[in-house]
Amino acid sequence: MDTGVCWHCIEDKYLREIIRDQGKPLECSVCNATRNGFTVDELGEQLEPIIRENYQLGEDRQSLQCE
Ligand SMILES: [Zn+2]
Repeated sequence: MDTGVCWHCIEDKYLREIIRDQGKPLECSVCNATRNGFTVDELGEQLEPIIRENYQLGEDRQSLQCE
């Protein structure tokens, strides 16, 4: 199974909805749960403009939180 980041671990509401709707089940590398999510590659490709605006990948990753 692919690993990536699930919608639950995305703080941004807009991103969350996109990932929840368009993501596929994967093992989240942040919370280790299996939920719809995007792989890091997919995040980079599909959401690059959004990410570029809202996040700084790598540095900000650590601030993603799971409950
Ligand atoms: Zn997660």
